[in-house]
Amino acid sequence: MSTETVTETGYPTVNLYIAGEWCQGGGGQTAPVVNPATEEAIGEVPLATTDDLDRALAAAEEGFRTWRDTPIARRTAILHRAADLLTERAAEVGRIMTLEQGKPLAEATGEARRVAETLRWHADDARRAYGRVIPSEPGTLLTVRREPVGPVAAFTPWNFPAGGPMRKISSALSAGCSIIIKASEETPATACALVRCFVDAGVPAGVLNLVFGEPAEVSAHLIASPITRLVAFTGSVPVGKLLAAQAGQVMKPTLMELGGHAPVIVCADADPVEAARRAAQAKFANAGQVCTSPSRFLVHESLYENFTAEFVKAAEAVAVGDGLTEGTTMGPLANDRRLAALERLTADAVKRGATVRTGGTRLERPGYFFAPTVLTDVPADAELMIEEPFGPIAPIVPFTDLNEALATANSLPYGLAAYTFTESAATAEYVTRALEAGILSVNHCGGSVHEAPSGGVKDSGYGREGGPEALDSYLITKRISHRLGAPAV
Ligand code: NAD
Repeated sequence: MSTETVTETGYPTVNLYIAGEWCQGGGGQTAPVVNPATEEAIGEVPLATTDDLDRALAAAEEGFRTWRDTPIARRTAILHRAADLLTERAAEVGRIMTLEQGKPLAEATGEARRVAETLRWHADDARRAYGRVIPSEPGTLLTVRREPVGPVAAFTPWNFPAGGPMRKISSALSAGCSIIIKASEETPATACALVRCFVDAGVPAGVLNLVFGEPAEVSAHLIASPITRLVAFTGSVPVGKLLAAQAGQVMKPTLMELGGHAPVIVCADADPVEAARRAAQAKFANAGQVCTSPSRFLVHESLYENFTAEFVKAAEAVAVGDGLTEGTTMGPLANDRRLAALERLTADAVKRGATVRTGGTRLERPGYFFAPTVLTDVPADAELMIEEPFGPIAPIVPFTDLNEALATANSLPYGLAAYTFTESAATAEYVTRALEAGILSVNHCGGSVHEAPSGGVKDSGYGREGGPEALDSYLITKRISHRLGAPAV
């Protein structure tokens, strides 16, 4: 699929992609890439220098002019071709993703296929980025037009090595923007494989640039540049606030997809077995490292024991292992920081009186493996009930009164995803209206889809990805009032 060298670990050489050229950073600095299932270094990621970033900025400025003026039918055709190439290469992209991130091969390959669909959807949607004609006085044409905002600086994390970058690249390129993307240094080869699909499909030089580096230095440099017109970030709340503040200093718009701590309210009339099965499936997907992962389970006291028993059964049925091994349903955590965080959160909860119903420890083997974990009797002041675990831990607590559960659900500064299980349409309506979150699901804990907007409220960020709303951040609105001369009649 590529001309890149592949090492004996099966991991390709990682490059930066700047101004239409694959290259190593000018400073010769690199960082190791680690396979989280083995803890072994499998490759190196080059780190961009300030000069590399300046070349990327100049290229994005030039690339924006080229791409903005490329007929939309041609732009769309190129993006569809990139999506076709990604679909063809999904198995290989999935293998690379599993090597560097750890998720099971089927999940990784599925992610590569799904994001090709995301690209197709945005490419088609951009063809309908209509403006409007406003009734005005005779002799004046008053129109509203939507135009690409300009070069985008985007920053994406390691949990969805294809999904994160593709959401930003597909929205930017569909809208007619150029982009410099700094994908995660921990999952860089998947980002390279995605970019290669665009390059091979004919995206002109400068339109799409990929860099890696020291995150804080790269973001500070790109945000400060007058060439950058939009800052798009997915990641943690503290880093999102930092980047939004930097962008505020230079009056740049930002798109912030940050973390959450998603409550699941299981109402008294729900089926506890079905609810537990569905919630557990979502909980352990990607080893819980999903910003919308269900992470606080508030269960009506009448269902509490049945729900918990079924959840424990589901947790114990998870096949934990190397994502490349057939039959694995949950891989390792993506890095050792998560392992340390989960050990800390579990120890704190137990110290405060929580009971470990299953799991609770890392696995005794190489790799960042943590057992699927269920905790009960977790007090409200445990760190686990306040801080997003971003891992395979499910704290389950009972409630008596629905309004009390809603107050608990809304008590944190986050508002990304929230879930409820109930047989009553009226209760579902009451609960979804009351929950402070941007992504709500009833009777399932399904993930994001490209046809619908995803995003948060409160500290979880602002702006939306997916759906027609995804283009809003990447387009500016121009009002044009045209006083016409006398017609030649
Ligand atoms: P982190 O806060 O250090 O980093 C989060 C992401 O932001 C990483 O990809 C990192 O490379 C990037 N980053 C960090 N500082 C940056 C900067 N100054 N400029 C640009 N990018 C920067 O934490 P982490 O250990 O990687 O992840 C821990 C937490 O982050 C998790 O607990 C979770 O809450 C959150 N997270 C959220 C998402 C999401 O999809 N919203 C994804 C990954 C991590």
